[in-house]
Amino acid sequence: MNRSRRYVLISHCLLNVNSKVDGYGLYPGALEPLVLPLIKSGIGIFQLPCPEATFAGARRWGMTVEQYDIPAYRRHSISLLEHVVDQVEDDLANGVSILGVVGVDGSPSCGVDCTCYGYTGGMIGGSDAVARSLDSVKMGPGRGVFMKVLSEMLEERGIVLPFAAVDEESLDGISWESIEKRLSV
Ligand code: SF4
Repeated sequence: MNRSRRYVLISHCLLNVNSKVDGYGLYPGALEPLVLPLIKSGIGIFQLPCPEATFAGARRWGMTVEQYDIPAYRRHSISLLEHVVDQVEDDLANGVSILGVVGVDGSPSCGVDCTCYGYTGGMIGGSDAVARSLDSVKMGPGRGVFMKVLSEMLEERGIVLPFAAVDEESLDGISWESIEKRLSV
């Protein structure tokens, strides 16, 4: 048998930038410096579903962690992740190594160490809603809703996996090697 019995879980858009909010995206398709070394090293790539695209579609606006941190979105994340966590649990029980989870820092859903705060919502074009929202948006420490739900669901099953992330705003220095180091700390 030729398989490595190793894989990593990665956020959907790292393999398919088209799932991002329209206007975002620093690479044309998949994030090559992350993905190519994984393929060459024989490490399997488990693509997580994109919680935002499957919740609000391709025409969604960019939102913040406070806007997504609502019961319906947490429930949506749980429903997307049930089968993922089932597979993870079963693979671990059958001798597969899972190197960790790679998210996207800055995302209100997939941020691991950093997420996006602010936006008050309201009618676009109505009074000062847009200006008020833009003034309030900021990046800061914290986990996006989807990654938070994933860590809680893993914890509930007694599974400990390391988490790391690429920076949504800058790909400087991004490589599988740099992520791998952070996963193995
Ligand atoms: S960061 Fe997460 S929610 Fe945002 S586009 Fe990527 S997979 Fe979807």
